Amino acid sequence: MDVSRQRYLQAMGVQTWTCRRAPQVRSSQAEGSATSALARVAAPGPGAHPGLDWGALQQRVAGCTACPLHATRTQTVFGVGDRQARWMVVGEAPGADEDRQGEPFVGRAGQLLNAMLAALGLAREQIYIANILKCRPPGNRDPEPEEVAACEGYLRRQIELVQPRLIVAVGRIAAHNLLKTDLSLARMRGRPHKYPETEIPVVVTYHPAYLLRNPVEKRKAWEDLRFALKVAGPLP
Ligand code: SF4
Repeated sequence: MDVSRQRYLQAMGVQTWTCRRAPQVRSSQAEGSATSALARVAAPGPGAHPGLDWGALQQRVAGCTACPLHATRTQTVFGVGDRQARWMVVGEAPGADEDRQGEPFVGRAGQLLNAMLAALGLAREQIYIANILKCRPPGNRDPEPEEVAACEGYLRRQIELVQPRLIVAVGRIAAHNLLKTDLSLARMRGRPHKYPETEIPVVVTYHPAYLLRNPVEKRKAWEDLRFALKVAGPLP
């Protein structure tokens, strides 16, 4: 193991001397997911933004007033990264740092996410990162269903444009809204799901902000990312 990878694993709290088995995925699941991820996203439903290219979509988000969050945001947080990425990471909503900088997953949580990805061999620039909501809920409260309904078409169009092989949902709220379920995070982890109306596999893990508060769970997050790698297939 090279030194930088070891350093990242240590930052995550993963003891690199520990021998552990890779998460088990039935080969049919893994093969099916990797192949089907190439399938195109189904026709978008109500609230979607069909046909918009990246520039037009970003412009629409920047001027959006479709829910009350527009009144309290500093700026919208559209998304960042490789627009042809094989992996997409989807979080819940911008926090204070993101609202200030206009970029998702910055600050300490963002640094931990970067470290987790780097441990897998993925640079932040190689993935595309976005949130369910493009504007910060005041006080970092959970998104309201009406806000998600107003905003989720933007994310769907982003997914449609990126066509990722895999989506990693980080945190319970992101997973619930992506997958339209209310299962506990524990029940969602460790198995591939599908982004609705598509064949794109979704893997669920903890939000880095939660891991900062509960470092003992970093080991489980590392297991989730290894599982995601298995579902998505080899990195380029
Ligand atoms: Fe528009 Fe989404 Fe911001 Fe609400 S959260 S104002 S729907 S961009």
